[in-house]
Amino acid sequence: MRHRIIVLGAGYTGAVAAGRLARRLHREDVAITLVNAERDFVERVRMHQLAVGQDLRLRPLGVIFDGSGVELKYARVTGVDVDRTTVDIVGESGAETLEYDTLVYALGSGWHTRGIPGVAEHAHELAGRPGALRLRARLAELAAGQPVVVVGGGLTGLEAATEIAEARPDLDIALATRGGLGDWLSDKGRRQVRKVFARLGITAHENTTVTAVGADHVSTADGEVVPAAVTVWTTGFAVHPIAAATTLDVGENGQIVVDETMRSVSHPDVYAIGDAALVIGPGDKPLRMSCASGVPTAWQAADAIAARLTGGKTPTRQPRYVNQCVSLGRREGLIQYVTADDRAVSTALTGRLAALYKEVVCKGAAWGVANPTLGVPTRRRRVLREPVPQDS
Ligand SMILES: Cc1cc2nc3c(=O)[nH]c(=O)nc-3n(C[C@H](O)[C@H](O)[C@H](O)COP(=O)(O)OP(=O)(O)OC[C@H]3O[C@@H](n4cnc5c(N)ncnc54)[C@H](O)[C@@H]3O)c2cc1C
Repeated sequence: MRHRIIVLGAGYTGAVAAGRLARRLHREDVAITLVNAERDFVERVRMHQLAVGQDLRLRPLGVIFDGSGVELKYARVTGVDVDRTTVDIVGESGAETLEYDTLVYALGSGWHTRGIPGVAEHAHELAGRPGALRLRARLAELAAGQPVVVVGGGLTGLEAATEIAEARPDLDIALATRGGLGDWLSDKGRRQVRKVFARLGITAHENTTVTAVGADHVSTADGEVVPAAVTVWTTGFAVHPIAAATTLDVGENGQIVVDETMRSVSHPDVYAIGDAALVIGPGDKPLRMSCASGVPTAWQAADAIAARLTGGKTPTRQPRYVNQCVSLGRREGLIQYVTADDRAVSTALTGRLAALYKEVVCKGAAWGVANPTLGVPTRRRRVLREPVPQDS
């Protein structure tokens, strides 16, 4: 019988892991199933572009995985039972239960309402395609001069505010952030953000905590009411509650706790990667939810699974950060170089060159999904017949 590997989620990390496993393991020995809610690979890092009306290239998973040996299942994962080693899914043909020998959990994350009143009812989000498309439809309805407030001054907030302001110069765009604008960046990085905000006419509400969202405004802790025909909520990401509902060891935020090979510390037949995994990186800090650090977790998990199944040496690679790539509209960008543990150094690239750099990075990430072994030659190894010891 073939060893059954199920990969949940075909985003940046799940798609890479499934493809890499298929190139590492012999087809007669493994059955790899990739479960995803949508039929396309979604470039999440471009959701702000989708929201302002840009049309993204469609990347059907069926084309990406054609001939790869990976079986695709378009279905929503509704539950995982790590003790019975089963996954419940609901697809076009109804509910189904799948059994696995090895599970790779890569369901990513969604927006984080943080329990703030009115957010779930009134705010828009762009953590995934459905939300970005709703925001796109709503922005298209707005008349000149109407106010849009982006809440959250992190990378996603900066990208969203500048993209909307560039695409819709007729709107009145503001960004509310708890700290200072780009306060984690280098001096050069901060100057670049302020320069682009000024050019695009974006109002920055700094040191401002939003405490409630209404249909046409946001309220702040200082008692201010800021008009908002549209509120875009970008205060970080939250993982799906599926893992936390199992007996897996999870962190406070529901991410699955893994070792340096991305293997669950409580269930050795489960691996978690990307946003869904709690990975301790350089400086003993958990990795930030990002493509930049997520994709290496997919390489790591796939290579560790392949090594354990084939009796090879289990590789470990310490993920590290190099830079933060921020788009500031289509014409400007910021490449902020960082330490291995993601702290800004003084070097930063700005302007049109940075915008181009960021575009290349986005294209490269999508290319990597279709080319998951990234220059490493494909060598399909035979799976050992004897069970591999779980602590190896
Ligand atoms: C607007 C925006 C800009 C960003 N920019 C950057 C950036 O510049 N650099 C960077 O490093 N990171 C960026 N990120 C973060 C990055 O997109 C995520 O960290 C990355 O996508 C995580 O990869 P993942 O594979 O864990 O999850 P995802 O890419 O989210 O993939 C998860 C997959 O699982 C599927 N799925 C989810 N739930 C279910 C279910 N119940 N059943 C079946 N399928 C399901 C989804 O459809 C999806 O295909 C950005 C994010 C956003 C939203």
